[in-house]
Amino acid sequence: MRKPVIAGNWKLYKTTPEALELVTSLKPLVENNQGVEIVVAPVFTVLASIKQPLAGSPINLAAQNCHWEEEGAFTGEVSPKMLIDAGCSHVIIGHSERRQYFGETDATVNRKMKAALNAGLTVLFCIGETLAERDAEQTLEVLKTQICGGLEGLSNEQLAKVVIAYEPVWAIGTGKTATNDQAQDAHSFIRGVVGGLYGPAAADAMRILYGGSVKPDNIKGLMAQPDIDGALVGGASLKADSFAAIVNYQN
Ligand code: PEP
Repeated sequence: MRKPVIAGNWKLYKTTPEALELVTSLKPLVENNQGVEIVVAPVFTVLASIKQPLAGSPINLAAQNCHWEEEGAFTGEVSPKMLIDAGCSHVIIGHSERRQYFGETDATVNRKMKAALNAGLTVLFCIGETLAERDAEQTLEVLKTQICGGLEGLSNEQLAKVVIAYEPVWAIGTGKTATNDQAQDAHSFIRGVVGGLYGPAAADAMRILYGGSVKPDNIKGLMAQPDIDGALVGGASLKADSFAAIVNYQN
């Protein structure tokens, strides 16, 4: 039985006071939800300040990125060990915005994944095709390349702490959600690729999230699909009521 994950990616939003306000409003709305792994991913500067307010709540803390080295002369970077120090249990790696604007490749994603997993973090590993790639019927090939590149060299034991987030780039922040069928098809394909690499038990255990304009009014349909195990939510995670409605989709 795969426990659903609902993760909020706050992107480059929320100062510390704004984050504290959001967390204070969110906590009572989700505190009784034991059936979902709830995650919020604020900017680095907010992490340590909301660690204490989140203590004892079912909300887990994630960073939106990390570096692959533990420490050293890497100006501007933050290591997995430092994320744990700031209260993180999870980290998002390979988000399409990082691939698109900050030059991340499957190879750098793979290095980050290994470092994060070695440090004990759970990784939300993002993959997804652009609109041009979908239109050119390259979606499956792109997903397979991203999965194989990102997971290269990981053991079955390491894989157990990976959650894949399928986020079609054309659906992120656009209000254009993939249809339930489009998402299910991609998720089923992704599970098959994981199975080919790690075997059927690992594929069956892998949680695969959908991301791309998830809202309170489309989460139920997505979660009804057999291979969709949760959501990575951007815009709708910035308000307590909409994020809580997504987290509490079973109510
Ligand atoms: C995201 O940031 O990963 C995302 C899916 O954003 P949105 O929900 O706003 O499309």
